Amino acid sequence: MILKFHGGAQEVGRSSILLKDERSIMMDFGVKLDGKTEYPIDVPKVDAFILSHAHLDHSGYAPALYEMSHVPTFGTKPTLELSTLLLEDSLSIARKEHFKPPFHRRQLNLLRNSFVDLNYHKPVKFGKFDIELHDAGHISGSAITLIERANAKENRRIVYTGDFKLEPQTLHRGAEIVKSDVLITEATYAGREHPERNKEIARLIDEVEEVLDRGGNALIPVFAVGRAQEMLAILYQNGLAGSTYVDGMAREATKIVARNPRFIDNSSILSKAIEEAEFVQARERPSVLKGPSIILTTAGMLQGGPVLNYISRLNSNSRIFITGYQAEDTNGRSLVENGHINTEDGKVRIGTPVSVYDFSAHAGNTDLLRYVRGSAPNTVICVHSDEECAKAFVEEIRGEGFDAFAPKVGETIKLDG
Ligand SMILES: [Zn+2]
Ligand SMILES: [Zn+2]
Repeated sequence: MILKFHGGAQEVGRSSILLKDERSIMMDFGVKLDGKTEYPIDVPKVDAFILSHAHLDHSGYAPALYEMSHVPTFGTKPTLELSTLLLEDSLSIARKEHFKPPFHRRQLNLLRNSFVDLNYHKPVKFGKFDIELHDAGHISGSAITLIERANAKENRRIVYTGDFKLEPQTLHRGAEIVKSDVLITEATYAGREHPERNKEIARLIDEVEEVLDRGGNALIPVFAVGRAQEMLAILYQNGLAGSTYVDGMAREATKIVARNPRFIDNSSILSKAIEEAEFVQARERPSVLKGPSIILTTAGMLQGGPVLNYISRLNSNSRIFITGYQAEDTNGRSLVENGHINTEDGKVRIGTPVSVYDFSAHAGNTDLLRYVRGSAPNTVICVHSDEECAKAFVEEIRGEGFDAFAPKVGETIKLDG
């Protein structure tokens, strides 16, 4: 059996891992979205596809796997619905901006028609494999994949974490720790820890309330999937959902998450938050800015979407709240570091003050280690992490006696048994 890394190894983005035994199973097939878009190194023929969760760095190039044939595809129901939303959006961006779409609608339809939606803890047979999904605690429907090889003498249990968070979020329980022989783990935050979540929430709420008291607009750019719902739930719990406006793709994503309540914790918080908040249509945007308001809108890294419509129209008592990671060469990064963004009209200076928070949906270093220890594998393979962090993490876990690797893109690891 071999594992080949078509992307997402010693880098964050375009996650793509091929498990090749008698049959080939691709786990995730994403894009890397920095300033430009990068794809997995090639598009192999596969017998099955497993999608860990909807984010485009895992799903963004998946339709390319569907040529003529039917490829059985496994994931949860919210993963299918949310990734369809994001992939449809990729197609419409390509159409609007007149560039060649990365895949055809026909391929996206094939993907959707091949989808077998799985609940957590409900294994399905695929040849000699048993495939079982577990809650990854990252976003709605996110899964840790267990592939069990019934006849193998060694390395029976292959576990791929996808993106995960051990610590609970408002809408998610922490990830489940799944026992493994081979653990392929994300390590985005290797070497780093997140601040205490409750303190981040208290600081955010204080600052948002201050903006509202002054009659300003609290603009919170968010990813449509995950962060938007988490922020809305936090605002609701602090009595602020009534002042909140949800715009852009966050609207549809929030509806999808809400109609799959079994894939979130505290689903009643989200449904009550939706009742209190207002979902904004394009024509209503000017009125949102007239009074004090909280605006939750896409895109999370300010690379398009209604956030660009709002950002230059905020009144002088306003503030921008960055709640997550901003990739290099994105408007979000440039706003935080240099106070400007790039639009169709060129560089635009943003005078509104900016606050930065960490509401990450990934495990920090302590929790990554906790996962490895709990999963108790023989071999650890570290992905979804930049080169430096991946190598340092591998050293750290080797120090605890595990066999560990941080493969590069294109590399193959042979596993016996
Ligand atoms: Zn993710
Ligand atoms: Zn990811």
